[in-house]
Amino acid sequence: MEESSAADGFLYVWHTIMIIGAVGFLIMAIVTFIQYKVRLAAHKEPKDKYDFIRNHEIRNYKRFFIFLSISVACIINTYGMSSIEFHIIWFAVRIFISLAGALLVGYTALLILQYYYPTIMHKKLKKLRYTPRINPENGHEMRLLGEHEEDVHLEEGMQAEENIFSVDYDVWVDESTGYTKIEKYPGHLEALQCNNCGFYTMKVVREEIIEPPTPEKDGELIKHYQCEYCKSIRATQFHIVRDSYQNWAASHPQHDPDGKGIGMVRIEIITTGGERRIFEFQSTDQAEKFLGEYENTPAG
Ligand SMILES: [Zn+2]
Repeated sequence: MEESSAADGFLYVWHTIMIIGAVGFLIMAIVTFIQYKVRLAAHKEPKDKYDFIRNHEIRNYKRFFIFLSISVACIINTYGMSSIEFHIIWFAVRIFISLAGALLVGYTALLILQYYYPTIMHKKLKKLRYTPRINPENGHEMRLLGEHEEDVHLEEGMQAEENIFSVDYDVWVDESTGYTKIEKYPGHLEALQCNNCGFYTMKVVREEIIEPPTPEKDGELIKHYQCEYCKSIRATQFHIVRDSYQNWAASHPQHDPDGKGIGMVRIEIITTGGERRIFEFQSTDQAEKFLGEYENTPAG
């Protein structure tokens, strides 16, 4: 009799902890989710939203499902709470089932987030990247120059080849005023669709420079991809856009004609025929003037 009441006391405490745990972890899951959505909503610019989603979304959803599965384990541990007396085997079986239940919820969710969800996220990110940008000065819709996914630039300051990762620059221009906005996208972070399994889990594992770019000439780069899901590999060759501005900055360190702290403005124009032209200017005023005149110049 003495023993049974001690066991009942233990069971009572155990169930109380499980109820508190179930509610507590459920609240933590909901808070994680809401907090993420609020922080995302605080980013107004499409580029800021893009970066935030890419860096935080999957990690936050994983956290949400981990809390949720712990909550599920606690709920299962309260099964039969009011009717069943303490029995060590029943107690152990229930713990085992609760762990299995939590694992089922948690592991399934993690698999989905790891392999299937990037496809959905890719569509969202692509939409954000190509949403027309607005000129903050006058509210005009800007236009994206040269949608050239095949040309890459190199991460500045990274000289050792094993550390080099390519980047893409998107250049948005307000053609009425010449206002430009440049956005940087690291090439190695974006997952591509795998030809083999179809998931967006193909990621750059290594980049290799075949021919380094010079100020006069484009270089060649090979990106080696591997699918995180099916492990199939792919290699693709890319152009490295010649990087004349670093040379330029080194030879003109004091040059600042309009006092805005701008050393050089580079505009890249891709014609409808696929030809690429790069124009460089010493000030935004010159670039503005050029863009105004470029509109009137017949192509050729
Ligand atoms: Zn694959």
